[in-house]
Amino acid sequence: MAYQPKDVFGRDFPLEHALSCVGKGWWNLVKECYQLCVENEVDISQVKEKFGGLRFYTGPTRNRKFFDQIDDICNRSYTICENCGQPGEPDTNRGWIKTLCPNCTKVEMEFSHELEHLLSDEQYNKWQEDIKSGKVARTLNNFIDALKSKLEEN
Ligand SMILES: [Zn+2]
Repeated sequence: MAYQPKDVFGRDFPLEHALSCVGKGWWNLVKECYQLCVENEVDISQVKEKFGGLRFYTGPTRNRKFFDQIDDICNRSYTICENCGQPGEPDTNRGWIKTLCPNCTKVEMEFSHELEHLLSDEQYNKWQEDIKSGKVARTLNNFIDALKSKLEEN
């Protein structure tokens, strides 16, 4: 039976959970990393986006090649739009870095602009802070979900 990677608490770390940590555009990269963990029987501590790149933190293994392989996969994330998987590059226009294609950059800029109009100054600033501190995942889908819930609250 295939190895089931565990989290730092020894609980199962399923692939679905790893995928939910980043935007859909990087899911193939996450699947590749996850598959390496299964093959090498390595556990996973965290999967996230940081400074525009995919981070896939794992437990130890004696296979030294493993970490190079994970690094290679994660480095590719800097050329792939996290939202849609098209070719992209790290974008710093909004005060934080996110790897996006030109189209998603445009959509996010417009969306962010819309949000600025819909929310009060206080709400908008809180929103920006949450994004920067990582409390809100920086994917377009989460942006939209959060906006919907904000609108439902009002
Ligand atoms: Zn895109």
